[in-house]
Amino acid sequence: MEAAAATTPKTTEARPAAGVPSYDEGMNVQPRMVLLVEDEETITVPLTEALAREGFRTETAGTLAAGLEIARRQRPDLVLLDVMLPDGSGFDLLRELRDGERMPVIMLTARGDEADRVLGLELGADDYVVKPFSARELVARIRAVLRRTSAASTPAAAGPQQIGGLELDPSARTVTLDGAPLELTRKEFDLLALLMGQAGTVVSRERLIDEVWDVNWFGSTKTLDVHVSGLRKKLGDDSSDPRYLHTVRGVGFRFASSVEPDAP
Ligand code: CA
Repeated sequence: MEAAAATTPKTTEARPAAGVPSYDEGMNVQPRMVLLVEDEETITVPLTEALAREGFRTETAGTLAAGLEIARRQRPDLVLLDVMLPDGSGFDLLRELRDGERMPVIMLTARGDEADRVLGLELGADDYVVKPFSARELVARIRAVLRRTSAASTPAAAGPQQIGGLELDPSARTVTLDGAPLELTRKEFDLLALLMGQAGTVVSRERLIDEVWDVNWFGSTKTLDVHVSGLRKKLGDDSSDPRYLHTVRGVGFRFASSVEPDAP
């Protein structure tokens, strides 16, 4: 095989291996880095060129071992992960990456291999593309995933948010209502953070699904409604007359930008 060339990481300049998510710092200054873990040069070569044209810096690893090393050392903004690699399954690397800090992953799966797609999503992949894919399609998916994951981390830079008696601290991932801590699931928290960040404006159902779940999520409509209703219950909101989380019928949801202490 011609894995040798792909296995050797093309090291450009030294980046500090800080334990800081790379999208928090200098995201407008440094190009986003994509780690491509793939052993087929017919894919890696044109894809690296296409990503460069779109302003991404790409590191290529042709094996799981090289992929894991680069992921840990360089902390890429996103990982493109093939399933069939010379030294094992991409799912093993996915599991490793999911053990540590959040790092967005898009799986590159074989045509018709539905089981791979399901397993990838269950293991926490953010999305998948089916081979053969166009560079254009993949870049669109990359942007969607980065938008979604950085939207979830952007409020951290903005600091804690407060609306009425509700306080959300994105960096600590804590929420309190009238001083009492609220126990939210991960998705409920992401949903609330996104809605509070856009308080006063309508956020469409599509955007919520796109940013909190996945562009390819099946049955998302029901999932979204279940989470909104769970969130309302925890906020003490009455769905027929909510204080915080308002339904905009047929469009989406709007979070109140301010809440009267005791509205008549
Ligand atoms: Ca392969």
